[in-house]
Amino acid sequence: MAASPTKSTFPPSLDVLEQEHLVQVIKDWSIAHGLAVRPPTAVAANDPEGILAINAPVTLFPSPFPKACFEDAKAVQKAYNELYANISRDEKFLEELVHEVAAGDDFISNLWDVHLKVKEEGYVQNLTLGLFRSDYMVHHDDDGLQIKQVEFNTIASSFGGLSSQTSALHKHLAATEYPLLHNSAALPPLDLPPNLSTTSLAAGLAAGYTAYGPSALHHPTCILFLVQPSERNIFDQRHLEYALHSQTSAPIFRLTLPSLPSHTTLGPARQLLYHPPHNPALTYECAVTYLRAGYGPADYPTPLAWSARRTVERSATIACPSVLAQLSGMKKVQQVLASSAETLLARFLSKAADRAAVRRTFTNIYPLDGTAAGLAAREIATDAERCVGYVMKPQREGGGNNVYRGAIPGRLGELPEGHWGSYILMELITPPAVGNVILRNGRLEEGGVICELGVYGACLWDRSVGVGGGGVVYNEEAGYLLRTKGDQSEEGGVAAGFGCMDSVVLV
Ligand code: ADP
Ligand code: MG
Ligand code: MG
Repeated sequence: MAASPTKSTFPPSLDVLEQEHLVQVIKDWSIAHGLAVRPPTAVAANDPEGILAINAPVTLFPSPFPKACFEDAKAVQKAYNELYANISRDEKFLEELVHEVAAGDDFISNLWDVHLKVKEEGYVQNLTLGLFRSDYMVHHDDDGLQIKQVEFNTIASSFGGLSSQTSALHKHLAATEYPLLHNSAALPPLDLPPNLSTTSLAAGLAAGYTAYGPSALHHPTCILFLVQPSERNIFDQRHLEYALHSQTSAPIFRLTLPSLPSHTTLGPARQLLYHPPHNPALTYECAVTYLRAGYGPADYPTPLAWSARRTVERSATIACPSVLAQLSGMKKVQQVLASSAETLLARFLSKAADRAAVRRTFTNIYPLDGTAAGLAAREIATDAERCVGYVMKPQREGGGNNVYRGAIPGRLGELPEGHWGSYILMELITPPAVGNVILRNGRLEEGGVICELGVYGACLWDRSVGVGGGGVVYNEEAGYLLRTKGDQSEEGGVAAGFGCMDSVVLV
């Protein structure tokens, strides 16, 4: 058996010349391969033509990650896809949870209203596509190392396009650069697993596109990306587009939510018809609408944006995701699953082995409502000493929304008690720190880092088939993401400026 890289041998220490050399190689490789983002506003001010791209923040080395944990996370993904597809088909279950959080959360209640209005009129598309990402950290306890789930994303799960590039970067460095380092003698062969996140997520979109079938109106069909204006993480999305182009003949278009009404109409059977602004004489029928926007209140600045979301939901396009699939990703759902009896999980997952595998990834999460469990959690959350092992989360996505440790009682104090139930209280997972060096904005940050593994899933299902009756027509694990942050930072989002891209070296 080959020796594994250990904490003492990996990553190897670098002298200044080696650092400078490695940084130069990474800078060039990253731009040449689109491991890049658009510059932040401060730099963009000097770029009126919008031509600049900068390196995405990355680690100089892949981070050591326990092989068994990595394999567990990959192996449980298909069960997780099925679980969330089934939750989204259980309207009653979601309705109860939406009502529990709605008092303090207009955004969730607005989303629910979109669903109710469309339901009243009748859905014309039964298929939903999910491009999911289940995020984990490694937890160490008496049973050894295990993955514990941080959250499950059901909308706009990002970085799949950049993640396979990061794996490719580290593979390139392992082949060409690491062996030349002074300390390379200490380096055993590196176990760098393949990462097909870009092509696998594109394959999910392609599956939705194929399932939609040809246009009854004899228009060409297309895939629509619903995006945020001035998206900095554009190349992540472009990688998916380019991979899609090699898998299907589907034309791909991009629109923001507020601009959707100006460039689309509905056909007689509520087909979502797209008229490209650069040639309005053309009409395309949107087979799949992939949302990389719409996950937070900031994406709905005007009633027009809400009306656009309603249009997508009531149209015949296959939404990725539907409103119900988006709501299934509420942290409240994760909390209820984590606190649930076996009977609840059995409602969504028929195989006992799947339930056991999923349950092994749960950590303690509590409600902050008026139930007995909620009242007990309130005791912790309002106690300056006991709250230090916890994070409090609202029903939000995209990073930067959570309240950590000692800040929890103060935040709760600012909120009316009637709104506390819109939050959940989660035990902090404390993964062992590993050493690495982060290259961000051309500068190196060295020290202890903490890694968060995401596993992507692609799933297509039929909402009209009752839970347990089948109706999951496509279900695949779709590659991974490793995000790494300094061990002093609480948030880990790359786009939010806290984390960076990484890949695993299995140990
Ligand atoms: P979001 O949907 O905004 O990404 P997350 O639940 O993923 O929200 O939380 C954001 C970040 O906060 C995570 O990427 C992670 O770094 C940190 N975090 C969240 N929950 C935990 C936890 N239970 N233990 C440790 N860190 C956590
Ligand atoms: Mg999230
Ligand atoms: Mg997250």
